[in-house]
Amino acid sequence: MAKKKQTEAETDHEKHIFELLKQMGMSEKDIEADFVHYLYNMLGRDIESDAYYQFKAMSYTVRDRLMMRWKDTWKAYNGGKNKKAYYLSMEFLIGRSLSNNLLNLGIETEAEKAMYQLGGSLEMIEEAEKDAGLGNGGLGRLAACFMDSCATLGLPVLGYGLRYEYGMFKQLIKNGYQVEEPDHWLGFGYYPWEIQRSEYTRVIKFGGYSRQFTDPHTGELTIHWEDAEEVFAVPFDVPIPGYKNGVVNTLRLWSAEATEGFNLSEFNQGSYFEAVADKSDAENITMVLYPNDSSENGKELRLRQQYFLVSASLQDVVCQWVDKFGDDFTDFAEYNVFQLNDTHPSLAVAELMRILIDDRKLHWDEAWAIVSSSMAYTNHTLLPEALERWSVSLFEKLLPRVLEIIYEINARFMKQVAMKWPGDLPRQRRMSIIDEHNHVCMAYLAIVGSFSINGVAALHSQLLKEGLFNDFYQLWPERFNNKTNGVTQRRWMASCNPGLKTLLDEKIGEKWVTELTQLSKIEDFVNDKPFRQTWMAVKRENKQRLADLVEKETGVKFDVTALFDVQVKRIHEYKRQLLNVLHVIHLYSRIKRGDTDNWTNRCVIIGGKAAPGYAMAKKIIKLVNSVADIVNSDPDVGDKLKLAFIPNYRVSAMEIIAPGTDLSEQISTAGKEASGTGNMKFMMNGAVTIGTLDGANVEILDAVGQENFFLFGLKTPEVAELRQHYYPQGYIDTDSDLQAVFGLLEAGHFNQLEPGIFDDIIQSVKSPNDPWMTLADFRSYVEAQEEVALAFQNHSRWNTMSIINSARSGIFSTDRTMREYNDDIWKLKPVKMP
Ligand SMILES: *Cc1c(COP(=O)(O)O)cnc(C)c1O
Repeated sequence: MAKKKQTEAETDHEKHIFELLKQMGMSEKDIEADFVHYLYNMLGRDIESDAYYQFKAMSYTVRDRLMMRWKDTWKAYNGGKNKKAYYLSMEFLIGRSLSNNLLNLGIETEAEKAMYQLGGSLEMIEEAEKDAGLGNGGLGRLAACFMDSCATLGLPVLGYGLRYEYGMFKQLIKNGYQVEEPDHWLGFGYYPWEIQRSEYTRVIKFGGYSRQFTDPHTGELTIHWEDAEEVFAVPFDVPIPGYKNGVVNTLRLWSAEATEGFNLSEFNQGSYFEAVADKSDAENITMVLYPNDSSENGKELRLRQQYFLVSASLQDVVCQWVDKFGDDFTDFAEYNVFQLNDTHPSLAVAELMRILIDDRKLHWDEAWAIVSSSMAYTNHTLLPEALERWSVSLFEKLLPRVLEIIYEINARFMKQVAMKWPGDLPRQRRMSIIDEHNHVCMAYLAIVGSFSINGVAALHSQLLKEGLFNDFYQLWPERFNNKTNGVTQRRWMASCNPGLKTLLDEKIGEKWVTELTQLSKIEDFVNDKPFRQTWMAVKRENKQRLADLVEKETGVKFDVTALFDVQVKRIHEYKRQLLNVLHVIHLYSRIKRGDTDNWTNRCVIIGGKAAPGYAMAKKIIKLVNSVADIVNSDPDVGDKLKLAFIPNYRVSAMEIIAPGTDLSEQISTAGKEASGTGNMKFMMNGAVTIGTLDGANVEILDAVGQENFFLFGLKTPEVAELRQHYYPQGYIDTDSDLQAVFGLLEAGHFNQLEPGIFDDIIQSVKSPNDPWMTLADFRSYVEAQEEVALAFQNHSRWNTMSIINSARSGIFSTDRTMREYNDDIWKLKPVKMP
C-alpha cells in the first residue's frame, strides 16, 4: 500500500513537471526568448558575438524542444515489450544538424523570423556549425540517412557508434597536393546536440587470458576472462528527430575513458610515464576515425575500436534486457535484432556468444540459437582489399576469450560444411572463418552468424551470390537478399534546396517530404511552361551558389550558363577520377587544335579526400590541380572549359554541390561500385547522370530510361572477360584523341616545373594489369560526353531530362530502404506519438 501511494505521489509530481515542460512554446517569440537567454545568460555572449556562439545558443534552444519528445519516444519503445533494432556502425557521417532539426520539428520559419527580429540571420548561424564528420564517405552517410528515415517512420531503431575525438581529417590543398589537418570537431567543449549519460557506462576488457574452472556451487564448467586491462565506455546520446511526427530516436556514441587516472602501483614504483600512458592508451581508442574508405588496414587500434563498439553496445542491450526480464533469454531474439553495417562490427557474433555464455550462463546451443537469429549483415563492397582479416596472433593478444569462441563457431560450422559436401576439402578450406594464413575472415564470421545477408544494390547483391559469397549462397540461399541504398530527401532536397522545395510544395503539395514517390506527379507538368521556367530558374540560382563556393575555395570563376559537370566522392582508382581527367585533357587538346565547332562550354568540378596512405589517390589529386592550373590560365581556353578541385569535400559542401549540378559523374569500372549514393542525391536535385552500368546506376537507368541517362562503358561480364587479354597500348595506337592526351601528359605539359611526377599514373593506366581498365572505356566515355554536350545545347531538352530525373527518383529515398529492411529483416512495429 505504502509503495503504491508513493508511486502515485511521484506521478503527481511528474505530471506537474510535465506541465511545466510542455509550456515550451514553438512560436517565433518563444524561440527568440530562449535564444537570447542561452546566448546572454548561459554563454555570456551577446548578439554582436561570433556566429559560433549564436549557433550554440540556437542549438540549445532547439534541443530543449526535442527533449520531451525524446523522453516520450524512449518510454513508448520501452514501456511494453517492443521489438527493437540496433544499427551497429563504426561510422555515422552526420554533418550539420541545426537546419535538419529545425526542418523536422517544423520550426524553420519561426527560427528564421526570430533571428531576423534580433537583427541576425539564421543562415549565418547554420553556417557556423561544424560538420560532425564521424565517417569516411558513402557507408557512414548511409548510416546517418537511415537514422533520419527510421525516426520519420517511427521505427524503434537505436544507432550505436563511436564518439571519435577527431573525425574525418580536413583536406587542404597546398601546391596542388592534399595536406591533412586534424579535425577537432568538438572544439573545447561538448557537441551541443549530445547528452552524456555516464550512468550507462560499460566496462570493456582487453588482453589477459581465459581460464576454465568448475563453479564450486553449481559444479558447471565456467570460463573466466582474467587479468584483462579494463576501459570504460561512456555513452553520449544524440537525438534524431523524425519529420513532424513527435518521434525522437537515439544515436548512442561511445567514448573511451581510463578506468583509473593512474595505475597506482606503477606510479608508486616510480614509473610515472607508464602510469600516465595507461590512461592515454585507454583514451586512444576513440581518439580518431580511421580515414580509409574501402580498404582494411590491419592495425591493432582499429581492432580495439571495433571490439569496443561491439562490446559496449551489446552489453548495453543485454543489461537493459536483464533489468526488465531477468535472466530469461528465451524470447530475446524475438525482441532484439542487430544490423551490422559492413564487417566492421562483425565481432558482435562472437561477443554476444561470450556475454550469453560467460556472463549469463547459457549453454552453447541456447546462445547460438539466439545469436544466429538476431544478427543481420550488410555487405558494402566487392573489392578484395576491403575484406577485413585479422591475424590470429593479434586476437590472441587482444581478445583471447573471443578468439576461443570464434574457433568453436568455426569448428561447428566446418562440420556443417562437411555434411553438406562430404570430402570436398577445397571447399572447406575456402569457407573456413580462419584462413590458410591464420587470419580471421570477418565477413565469413558475419555470414555464419547472421540470418540475413544483404548487398546494397540489385547488381551488387547479385554479384555477391555469384562470386564473393557463392559457397555460402549455395549453403544458405534463403539468407541472401538485396536492399538498395537510398538517401533522405529531408536533408538532400527539402533542407539543401529551398528553391526546389518551394516549387514542389506549390505544385504537388508537401507529401513528397515523407513519401518521395509523390515526385512522379511533377511529370504532369513536364510541358507546363511556367513550371519549366521556374525549374530552370531554381537550377540557375543553385548554380550561382555553387559557382560562389568554387570561387571562394579555389579562385576559379565559373560562368553559370555553362554545363556544370561534377564528380565528388572519395578519391579511388576504381571510381576513376582519372578517366574524368583524361576527358578534360582531351577537351583542352581539342580547344588547342581549334576543333571547337558547335562547342558547349563546360565547368568541371572534381572533389574528394584521398586516404592519407593511398599514394596513387593523392597523386590523382595533384594531377587534377595541375591540369586545372594550365586549363584555367590559358587565354585560348577562356570560358570554353574550366576545371576546379573543390577542397575538403564533406556533407555540408555536398549540400551546395548537388543542387547546383547539371551532370553527375558516376563512372566506376563496372562491378566495382557497390551502390553509390551520391548518384541519388544528384538525381533528386535534377542532375542527369553519365555513368557505367554499375551499382545503383543500373536502377537509376531503369527508372529514367536510356533517353534520360548517358550510358557508356563495358558491362561487368565484359570487364571480367577482357581481363584475360587486356592490352591498353592497343587503344592508344588506334585512337588519335588518346594519342593527343598521352602526348601532352608524357611531354610533362601539366608539370613543367615538377618533371616526372605523373610517371606512375601514366604507367598505371597503360599497364595490362590495370584492374580498373580506364583506357578500355575512354572512347565510349568521350562519345557519351559528346552526346551530353549536344543535349545541353538544347536547353529545353535538357530541362525535360532534369525534371524527369528528379520525378523518377522516388524509389531512392531511404524511407523506402528502411521499409524494406523492416518488412524483410527487422519486423518492428512502428510507434505513433500523440
Ligand atoms: C553521399 C556522400 C558520399 C558518397 O558518395 P558516392 O558518390 O556514393 O561515393 C561521400 N561523401 C559525402 C560527404 C557524401 O555526402
